[in-house]
Amino acid sequence: MPTYDYLCNECGFLFEKTVSFSQRESTQKCKNCGEPAIPQMTRDVSFSFNPSIGNSPKPPNTGISGYDHKVDRAIGKSAEFGWEMQEKRAEQKRALLRNNPNAEYGNISRNPDNTYRVMSGEETNKVDQRNKKAIPFIKKKGRSLG
Ligand SMILES: [Zn+2]
Repeated sequence: MPTYDYLCNECGFLFEKTVSFSQRESTQKCKNCGEPAIPQMTRDVSFSFNPSIGNSPKPPNTGISGYDHKVDRAIGKSAEFGWEMQEKRAEQKRALLRNNPNAEYGNISRNPDNTYRVMSGEETNKVDQRNKKAIPFIKKKGRSLG
């Protein structure tokens, strides 16, 4: 089973977890704070793609999901999907800020179903405190916050 990186949306903790391929897009419990952590792009892609093929038709899906995933990454389809999702998330956040004039980006949190909500001042403070505790821990582990 492959190992994936997970980034905690609440405390920013980055950790690895070995999960089955079918589970790779599910959130996992953060090993630091227990909140849902979001799967990151895997680093162990060993597929190589010949760029000289240029604009010729892209390979069709084989139906073998592990192989297709690597092909999608190599031809940029995965990145394109990622950017689309990121734009959708940014728009959800902008809409929240438009509808809640007193809220700031720091007040927005992601729900387990990947929608967003504006946190109360009390909840924002709690998250800020948790982040302050997590940062030295992450630094000690030698992992970057980016
Ligand atoms: Zn966490």
